[in-house]
Amino acid sequence: MEPAVFLDRDGVIIENRDDYVRSWSDVEFFPAALAALQSFSSSPYRIILVTNQSAVGRGLITLAQAERLNRRITAAVKASGGRVDGTFMCPHAPQANCNCRKPRPGLLLQAAEALNLDLSRSFMIGDALSDLQAGRAAGVREAMLVRTGRGIRQAGLPEATLLQPFRVFDSLAEALDHISSHSE
Ligand SMILES: [Zn+2]
Repeated sequence: MEPAVFLDRDGVIIENRDDYVRSWSDVEFFPAALAALQSFSSSPYRIILVTNQSAVGRGLITLAQAERLNRRITAAVKASGGRVDGTFMCPHAPQANCNCRKPRPGLLLQAAEALNLDLSRSFMIGDALSDLQAGRAAGVREAMLVRTGRGIRQAGLPEATLLQPFRVFDSLAEALDHISSHSE
């Protein structure tokens, strides 16, 4: 079994949008995140995107459109020398009460099953408390927050104290450096 780094998509790789990422023109990469993924591509970790895309369940975009966006995002990471080994998406609206929408662990569990991942040696990086919760519920070694996207606000929420202790990094690069320096 292999260890993985699970990455949230919006707020970690690309900018969040209040009105959802609906089309390719809504996709704005964090240049530093692409560089960080390039540096990390030689690591032994599988790199897995885990993303809530409720715009599908809300009827704003189709599942096919959302999957196409994921493919283009992955292709752009690859074009800049990075690597994405899998993308797992929850397309459901919150009221569907599914098991895959973070903070639930379904996406990570799906990935672990499909790709034979060792969750206990894996990490989760996100910009939201729900990412921390999903990672922990899945049993990862460590879940951490980045101060990109919604990260600064999320780290300051009252609920964050209930989830302490967790590490917060300024960028994806710093979070990945932490993982590299604490490898097995
Ligand atoms: Zn779901």
